[in-house]
Amino acid sequence: MTIRIPQIALNDSRPFAELGLGTYKLTGDEGIASIRAGIDGGYRLLDTAVNYGNEREVGEAVRQSGIDRDEIIVTTKVPGRHHGYDEAIASGRASDETLGLGRIDLLLIHWPNPRVDKYVDTFRGMLALRDEGVVRSVGVSNFTEQMLARLIEETGVTPAVNQVELHPYFPQAALRAFHAEHGIRTESWSPLARRSELLGEPVIDDIAEGHGVTPSQVVLRWHVQIGSTPIPKSADPVRQRENADVFGFELAGDEVDAISELERGRLWDGDPNTHEEF
Ligand code: NAP
Repeated sequence: MTIRIPQIALNDSRPFAELGLGTYKLTGDEGIASIRAGIDGGYRLLDTAVNYGNEREVGEAVRQSGIDRDEIIVTTKVPGRHHGYDEAIASGRASDETLGLGRIDLLLIHWPNPRVDKYVDTFRGMLALRDEGVVRSVGVSNFTEQMLARLIEETGVTPAVNQVELHPYFPQAALRAFHAEHGIRTESWSPLARRSELLGEPVIDDIAEGHGVTPSQVVLRWHVQIGSTPIPKSADPVRQRENADVFGFELAGDEVDAISELERGRLWDGDPNTHEEF
């Protein structure tokens, strides 16, 4: 049975999903098989990046699936070493070619790298790709409120999405409020906190038991109810299905709040003001 994952509209009216599949580390033939299993199971939003080295695999899985291209939303990302106007255009074109799917649905700046200070020009290059039709939606990843405000001010364009570290240990309430104010969709990376001790937290176990679901499903449902799109990664078709099957139950307000109270900080030192990736 294929699970139907609901869709929402981005600020540019393009469709987006309430939950997607992370693909970091899904490479080679095994990676293609895992991504393909995800699509067969109902995932329609796929998250890749130049730096994951698996854009080819994602494209291949989509082609093999036989699903109508217009039903699939593929996200990829411009890496730090491709920052700059011309570099971003070349990067997006190369990703489009490697994916081989006729267009990129959502292109993100992977990390802002503020010391390099080229993210505004990078975004302008991505807007040129959007005008050309190579890319449908443009967004960012790992941006702070200050960086978003500057981008909007200097380009006049509000990114459609900001993909950030977000899970019950790091719920990002202030950033989410900024996104809501500006019509930016929040997307959660490492939504299961990379299978850390989060899934064994007593509060999550108790809530899972009450609803007859698993701890992962409680965490992913929490993302959906706080208005963020989680992109859990799993190589395993059974866990992929478990993760996608979160639209048949609802957490009570006090359960959502109790999960948010697990807040303690980032998983590792991925502070976008200081952490850089190239
Ligand atoms: P995650 O999705 O929170 O956790 C993945 C880990 O959890 C894997 O070890 C997976 O193992 C396990 N897992 C998945 N479902 C499970 C379940 N139901 N029960 C128990 N274990 C389960 O972490 P992530 O991969 O770091 O983040 C997800 C995606 O976000 C990435 O793949 C990538 O696409 C994106 N991301 C983006 C950035 C960025 O800077 N923009 C940074 C990090 C990640 P199995 O595969 O064996 O199931």
